[in-house]
Amino acid sequence: QAKKQGRNNFQMYDVMLDRQAFEKLQVENELRKALEREEFVLHYQPIVNLCKNEITGAEALIRWQNDRVGFVSPDQFIPIAEETGLIIPIGEWVLKTALLQLKEWHGNGLEGLTVSVNLSIRQFYQPNLISMVKETLELTGVEPRFLTIEITESMTMDVEKASFILHELKKLGVNISIDDFGTGYSSLSYLKRFPIDHLKIDRCFVMDIAENKSDENIATTIILMAHNLGLSVIAEGVETAEQLGLLKQHRCNEAQGYHFSKPVPAEEFSKIKVPS
Ligand code: C2E
Ligand code: MG
Ligand code: MG
Ligand code: MG
Repeated sequence: QAKKQGRNNFQMYDVMLDRQAFEKLQVENELRKALEREEFVLHYQPIVNLCKNEITGAEALIRWQNDRVGFVSPDQFIPIAEETGLIIPIGEWVLKTALLQLKEWHGNGLEGLTVSVNLSIRQFYQPNLISMVKETLELTGVEPRFLTIEITESMTMDVEKASFILHELKKLGVNISIDDFGTGYSSLSYLKRFPIDHLKIDRCFVMDIAENKSDENIATTIILMAHNLGLSVIAEGVETAEQLGLLKQHRCNEAQGYHFSKPVPAEEFSKIKVPS
């Protein structure tokens, strides 16, 4: 009886694997055609300066709507785009689109606004990254100081290479953020060696900050350490006034999250009001 059941479970497992593999293949095939079919769109989430109580930045977040596979979240398709190398043309499209949008905003009363763009690991280590960023800035006519590049800790495992690339990016005049800080491999020594401007505290530490004293301690410690190193701190995933109050109290510089706004299409971005 047990043997029989075991075999059935095994078959179930196979079927599920097949299904997963099939779905992945389908997503991959659709992803190949998505750029030319213009199925991608960028949404923007405000980054709020907590001293000025003002929107100072916008993070560009990609969205994909496909007729056959429906809406696929970036956490699902970015890894497939990485594996297949499709992330290279997609990433170039993201940067160009975000900078063109910023140029338009600068001409429409949002003068000092910056835009943040996420890089994935394959893009980061792409030999022509520096020239691609430089050319896209020139093409769109945006000054480098208005662009922030977001990378994650896991991308800096190869400390020598990462340090070189970050210094080259810095020479262009762009800003650099470490995204999802606290979730990756954390040899804190690299923070000193890399030319970083901002740390973004990952949402998982912000989530329970008002209920959980040790989470509050972690957030406070990250803020103090960052400030000692001359870096500014952005809190991710701020959803409540209580979380915001604590972060302000601990001198966090900027914040992002549903408390202010979800990521929205470009047309809606300029209508967002910061609650006072
Ligand atoms: P991320 O860069 O850490 O972006 C933050 C994610 O948290 C976004 O998810 C955002 O919608 C979500 N978020 C923001 N505020 C809140 C909040 O208050 N509560 C909750 N629950 N969530 C919040 P999204 O847009 O699904 O993006 C997921 C990840 O996909 C991003 O994480 C980033 O790593 C990646 N990604 C998005 N766009 C791009 C892109 O253009 N290029 C690359 N390489 N990666 C991208
Ligand atoms: Mg990000
Ligand atoms: Mg993040
Ligand atoms: Mg994140």
